[in-house]
Amino acid sequence: KAGFVALVGRPNVGKSTLLNHLVGQKISITSRRPQTTRHRICGIKTTEEGQIVFVDTPGIHASQKRAMNRYLNRAAVSALLDVDLIIWIIDRPNWLREDDLVLERIKSAGVPVVLVINKVDRLEDKAVLLPFLEEAAARHSFADLVPVSALKGVNLDVLERKIIAL
Ligand code: GDP
Ligand code: MG
Repeated sequence: KAGFVALVGRPNVGKSTLLNHLVGQKISITSRRPQTTRHRICGIKTTEEGQIVFVDTPGIHASQKRAMNRYLNRAAVSALLDVDLIIWIIDRPNWLREDDLVLERIKSAGVPVVLVINKVDRLEDKAVLLPFLEEAAARHSFADLVPVSALKGVNLDVLERKIIAL
């Protein structure tokens, strides 16, 4: 049994760093699910419960002005329709205006979303985290909200258990 998980987030939020920590050893995919070829597989984790296939998605572009961006956004959303779970990564508790648009796109895929707040090791004031989590939870019924540090390995075991459970 293979579960497909999309990693979504703006450049530099820490997608690659997180993936490297989540995926121990890369092995070849055994899933016969036809959609596999629609995705760029970026890592596979094998657990006792089955395999988790992490897939790259085309970036979701904030600006809707250009026809090209609209086209790319549709491509990004249609890729998300085929996954079981979306992991949306943001850089510390910063909800930018572009993120509203990213959330709209993600929502339209109708797939559970886990919001990962990365780089908490760089947070000077940890007290901002709790109000942020409450605010984010009010914007969307996320499957979960998980603060982590992909670089320092903080809370990644918790994230992994949640991914496996979903
Ligand atoms: P991507 O573009 O989303 O794949 O981001 P990368 O994984 O390449 O990370 C971008 C930069 O952020 C790199 O310099 C990483 O070392 C750094 N980074 C990633 N995760 C963390 C983190 O949890 N804490 C800190 N302090 N830096 C991080
Ligand atoms: Mg990267």
